[in-house]
Amino acid sequence: MNGARDTVTEGTLAAAVPVPLVSYDGWGYVTGWNPAAARLLGWTEAEVVGRRDPSVPPDEMREFEDILAVVLRGETVEGLEVNRCARCGEQVALSLTIGPLLSRGDTPSGAIGILTDISEHKRVEEEKDAFLVAVTHDLKTPLMVVRGVGQFLLRRLRTEGTVDRAELERQLEQVVETSGNITSSLNGLIDVTRIHLGRSLELERRDTDLVTLVRRVVAEQQTRVRDHQIDVEATEPAFVGNWDSFRLERVISNLVANAVKYSPPGRVTVRIARERPDWVLLAVRDEGIGIPRADVPRIFERFYRAQNVIGVIPGSGIGLAGVRQIVEQHGGTVEVDSREGQGTTFVVRLPTDR
Ligand code: ADP
Repeated sequence: MNGARDTVTEGTLAAAVPVPLVSYDGWGYVTGWNPAAARLLGWTEAEVVGRRDPSVPPDEMREFEDILAVVLRGETVEGLEVNRCARCGEQVALSLTIGPLLSRGDTPSGAIGILTDISEHKRVEEEKDAFLVAVTHDLKTPLMVVRGVGQFLLRRLRTEGTVDRAELERQLEQVVETSGNITSSLNGLIDVTRIHLGRSLELERRDTDLVTLVRRVVAEQQTRVRDHQIDVEATEPAFVGNWDSFRLERVISNLVANAVKYSPPGRVTVRIARERPDWVLLAVRDEGIGIPRADVPRIFERFYRAQNVIGVIPGSGIGLAGVRQIVEQHGGTVEVDSREGQGTTFVVRLPTDR
């Protein structure tokens, strides 16, 4: 901004622009407050003109006065991140660009500021940070396992010149399994990022038997958990559909892993049944901590985690977002039925032909 004549605040221009504009006199009192500013901050122009800006929080008043002093010397301050308090009490993160208002000659008689709401932008930034922390945390443990095995084998080789064949086989199996887990976490991450960018997943469909897939995931997870008994109940020996088997495996794996993770030792049941002639139902039931009623509607959102797990059980909140995307892209649905303190059942319905 190079300075504007102060008539602009009284004119139709300021009233018409959809951008929040606020002007001040040389003493910092409000002289103009357009309708967009009123919508953003809650006060009407009549309520604030002639007063100190009520949206400036007390702890930012000093800084605001310093900025005004700079502007009144003829300078423009651009894109400054500030907090403002709306009339309802809510804090809004804003970007403020403020420049001198010139009336007679070149001496500024006041200042005019443009406010841009950046709360959403900030929220997404914070989400991304939290996500990065969670993901790096999730990947760190398996990577440490792989590194640990490598170091162990190296040490053995260097000190003893050889490693027992059975021992080597056992260690290498662990490397293969753990690196497989890292790969599937990364694939999940890539899918979720793709979804976020508005791109759909490219499904690689082929004839897939859901019962085989479920038994494989359950057997793999059962080797890692001792205190949970994971049962599979299938009403028919096989349920074949035209599905992306890797993606579906991730769906099952996520649901079963969550059922274990969010339950005290106990029973988890995976049920597979035919619903209608060309639809199959997959239900994963646990007797765990459940999901608070208020959180249930948002549980499939990216990064969303329920109140009863935040800070208690680690996680990144992306698994279910991926589950929903994969199931819906197969033309199916996923629902949850949960009671806090009693247990949760996730129900996936999939058409066998598409
Ligand atoms: P993560 O488990 O990494 O947090 P998810 O996207 O898999 O992320 O799950 C999102 C949230 O849904 C979890 O944080 C948890 O609050 C809730 N949740 C998912 N499955 C269960 C379950 N079986 N029992 C209770 N809460 C669950």
